[in-house]
Amino acid sequence: MIAVPRDDLLRLSASALADALSAGEVSSVEITQAYLDRIAAVDGAVHAFLHVDTAGALAQAAEVDRRRAVGAAVHALAGVPIAVKDIVATRGMPTTAGSRLLEGWVPPYDATVAARLRTAGLPMLGKTNMDEFAMGSSTEHSAYGPTHNPWDLERIPGGSGGGSAAAVAAFEAPFAIGTDTGGSIRQPGAVTGTVGVKPTYGGVSRYGLVALASSLDQAGPVARTVLDAALLHELIGGHDPMDSTSIAGSPPPVVEAARRADVRGMRIGVVRELGGEGYQPGVRARFDEAVALLVGAGADVVEVSCPHFDYAFAAYYLILPSEASSNLARFDAMRYGLRVWPEHDQAASAEEVMLATREAGFGDEAKRRIILGTYALSSGYYDAYYGSAQKVRTLIARDFARAYEQADVLVSPTAPTTAFRLGDKLDDPIAMYLNDIATIPANLAGVPGLSVPSGLADEDSLPAGFQVLAPAECDDRLYRVGAALEAMLHEQWGGPLLDRAPALVGMSAC
Ligand code: GLN
Repeated sequence: MIAVPRDDLLRLSASALADALSAGEVSSVEITQAYLDRIAAVDGAVHAFLHVDTAGALAQAAEVDRRRAVGAAVHALAGVPIAVKDIVATRGMPTTAGSRLLEGWVPPYDATVAARLRTAGLPMLGKTNMDEFAMGSSTEHSAYGPTHNPWDLERIPGGSGGGSAAAVAAFEAPFAIGTDTGGSIRQPGAVTGTVGVKPTYGGVSRYGLVALASSLDQAGPVARTVLDAALLHELIGGHDPMDSTSIAGSPPPVVEAARRADVRGMRIGVVRELGGEGYQPGVRARFDEAVALLVGAGADVVEVSCPHFDYAFAAYYLILPSEASSNLARFDAMRYGLRVWPEHDQAASAEEVMLATREAGFGDEAKRRIILGTYALSSGYYDAYYGSAQKVRTLIARDFARAYEQADVLVSPTAPTTAFRLGDKLDDPIAMYLNDIATIPANLAGVPGLSVPSGLADEDSLPAGFQVLAPAECDDRLYRVGAALEAMLHEQWGGPLLDRAPALVGMSAC
C-alpha cells in the first residue's frame, strides 16, 4: 500500500500525514513503525525518551487502521503517532516526571490530555525526558540523565521539556505534548528549532498532570509547524469538568487562524523590556528581521513598555517554589512512589521513612526549591515574600492589559540565547533560571504564548526563537502571526529550518 517513501514519512508534517492517512496512501502501522525504527536508530544519542511503548503504539495504530478500513468516522489526526512528556499520567505506562521518587509508578488512570489523544486514535510512541518535576531549563535535572540537542549533541535541548522538543526536532515523533510553567514548552522550542505553544491558563485541562505550580502550569503542543501545533491544540483543548480552573465556553479558533496566516492590519507590540542587555546579538538580529517581515506583510509595529516585567523573574522564583513545596509534599513515601527505609531500621517511624525517602528521592534542584518555598510561606515571612510576589503578579497583569490597548499581540525573542553546552550552567542556578526571562511573564498573567523558529544565530549557527503573546483566550492570534511568519521564513530558507540541522543529516534516517 505504501505510496509515500519511508524517509519522507518522517519528514512529513503531522497534517500531511493525516491527509495521507485519510487518502489511504499509507497506514498508521507503517507510519508508527517508521517512527519506532527512527527512535531505535537515534535515541541512544539523543535520549529524548524515558519509555518507548512499541507494542502499545503498534496496537493503537492497527486499531485505527481497522476502523478506517471499515469506514468508521475517525478524528482527522487518527493514526498520527505522538510523544508525551513524562509529566502526563498515562494509564498502564510508566510516569516518572523525571524523578526517582516516581520510578516504576504506573498510573491507574489517564490525564485528560492523554485520554483525548487515545480517544482520537493517536498512537502514543512513549514518554519523553524532562527536568525533575519540570524544574529546569536544560533537562539536565532529570534523574535519568540529560537529553541532547539534535543540532549539536554536546548542547542542551532546553527544559524542562527538552525530551519532547528533541524528539520532534530529531524526527523521532511528528509532534508531542509538553507543559509550560515558566517557559518549558517555548524555550525548548526556541533552542531546538521547533514550534511550541503555551495555551491560555485553563485552556487545556491540568487533570492528571503531575503538579509543579498549579497557578502557572499549562499543557500544550510541541510541533514542527504552526499548523500542526494548532491541530494538536484544538484536540487537547477545551473545557474539562475534572479541572476546576478549566475555561468553559467555546475555545479559540486556532486551526482556522493557522490556516489564515494573515497579519494585515494587525498591531504588533515589541516589548521594550524583553530584548535589551543579556540577549545574544544573533538572536536579536533574527528577531529584528522577523519583525521587519511582519511589517512587510502589512502589520503595524509599535513599541510597548511593560515596566513591571523587570520584577517577573523575582516574583516567579517566589511563587513557583511556594506552590511546588506544597504540591511536592504529597511524595511522602506512604501513598505511591519510592519508599526508602532508614538504614538498619525496620522499626522506623513514618516520619523517619518519609525523611529518608525524600532525601534519597529528590534531586538537588527540587530540594533547593522546596527549601525556598517552605521558607517563603513560613509565618512571619509570608507577607514579605509570597504576598509581595502576588502583588507583583497583579502589576504584571496590568502591564499586559495596558499593552494590549495599543497592540493585538506582543512579540519578543523567546529565549535570550541559543542552546548552551551541557554542564555550562549546572552549578549556577541563577544563570539557568535566566533562560526564562522572556517567557515567565505570560505564565504569571495566564496569557498564551507561542515560539516559532526565527532562523540561525550568526555566532553559532544554532536556532533562535520568536515569541508571540496574546490576551487570554485569544490564542488564535498567536497562530495567525506564527503561521504568517513561518510561511515567509520558509520561503526565504527554501524549506523548514530543521532540514538544515547538521546532526540529523549525519544520522541514518531509519
Ligand atoms: N525553567 C523554568 C523553571 O525551572 C520553567 C519550568 C517550566 O516551565 N516547567 O521553573
